[in-house]
Amino acid sequence: MNHHTPPAITLALLLCVPAAAQKKEAPAMELVSPVPSSVQQGVIEVRIRTGVEGKAAPASIYASLGGSAGVPLTRTGDTGEWGCQIDTTRIPNGGQQLRVITENKRFMVTVPLTVKNPLRHYFADLHSHTSFSDGTLLPEVAHDYARNVAKLDVFSLTDHLESVDSVEWNRMREVAWKANEDGAFVVLPGLEWTKRWGHINIYDPGTRLWPQDPESFYAAIAGAGVLAKFNHPGDGSKSHGGLAYSEAGDKAIQLMEVRSDQEEKAFIRALGLGWHIAPDGSDDTHSPNWGNVKSWTGILAPGLSQQAILAALKARHCYSTLDRNCRLSFEVCGAVMGDILGKPVEVAEVRVAVEDPDAGDKVAKFELFEDGVVVESHEPAGGGGQWAVSHKAAPGSHHYFVKVTQADGDMLWSAPVWLAVVVSWK
Ligand SMILES: [Zn+2]
Ligand SMILES: [Zn+2]
Repeated sequence: MNHHTPPAITLALLLCVPAAAQKKEAPAMELVSPVPSSVQQGVIEVRIRTGVEGKAAPASIYASLGGSAGVPLTRTGDTGEWGCQIDTTRIPNGGQQLRVITENKRFMVTVPLTVKNPLRHYFADLHSHTSFSDGTLLPEVAHDYARNVAKLDVFSLTDHLESVDSVEWNRMREVAWKANEDGAFVVLPGLEWTKRWGHINIYDPGTRLWPQDPESFYAAIAGAGVLAKFNHPGDGSKSHGGLAYSEAGDKAIQLMEVRSDQEEKAFIRALGLGWHIAPDGSDDTHSPNWGNVKSWTGILAPGLSQQAILAALKARHCYSTLDRNCRLSFEVCGAVMGDILGKPVEVAEVRVAVEDPDAGDKVAKFELFEDGVVVESHEPAGGGGQWAVSHKAAPGSHHYFVKVTQADGDMLWSAPVWLAVVVSWK
């Protein structure tokens, strides 16, 4: 690079043209905005300058961020500039690639961006049935009900894979893809692996054909990278082999149904055995009331899209709630529920925020669980939803989650935060 390179970075030259060609080739197009490696949020402007150094402009240009659907750029006047807008909330936070693509392979720009959007709360039911197994009616009816009557943000049908034939499975997927509308209603195609040993839901699976025995199944779903959930575990002592720890299983399973004091026992047992899982409040309905029963899953995601929701669930950014619209936030030392904090801390700085749009739904009690035992609790006098506590833990590794009980008895369980404590305080 010489020192007279204009500020708009000649990315086609830098990144896309083979090294041997760099001397001869003039850049085909320049990225005007955004600035490579910058941090972005919300709706961003992508601007491209074409016809650089006498090169003919491409006929069409598309931009895609983080593998999202391509957005066409349009000419902005006769200046050789093209532009479009991309909603960054539809993709997961973190490092993402912005790609600008034309009909000519040389006219392609790839730059890294960091996406950082605030997390919002969405409400889901991720376990329900139709007549394709032992439930009622049809997938299209269930999706319509979940969206328009239950008014869910996220929905998944999970008929027993043992009862679903290949025609039904194709139908289930087709209905799910059609029902999904990013920004309005996210649908994840799912199946329930149903054995006497225990039931496990899988989401966005490429196939309905999976191994029969648990350890092979764990290995297969871990290898396929699907999202998975322990269903109705009881107290955890009998179901799923007593929740015996499996390394392959821990890679595969992100969620467990926790909807009662009994299932709370299973959750604590699983965490104690080493599982890294988040609580889920799906209902497992077999009646025509999809997403409209008595428990839900709250999901913390930057926006409402299949990609963002799947990533949020894989990151365990979720909680179980017996209240339909209660928003729970839980952080330890800045780590969001579901995170494994990479650096050791001296004190577990816990922050909880509960927001319920219904004025009557006050908080009766907060309980902080450390390694399965309540170590701090608080009964707010006015039922307020904010709680902050500094917990001095013994040195070593710990996991924390919060349980919130509302005045009407509804309970919520957050995903845990895992961390290591080093003590240097006196
Ligand atoms: Zn089941
Ligand atoms: Zn079920």
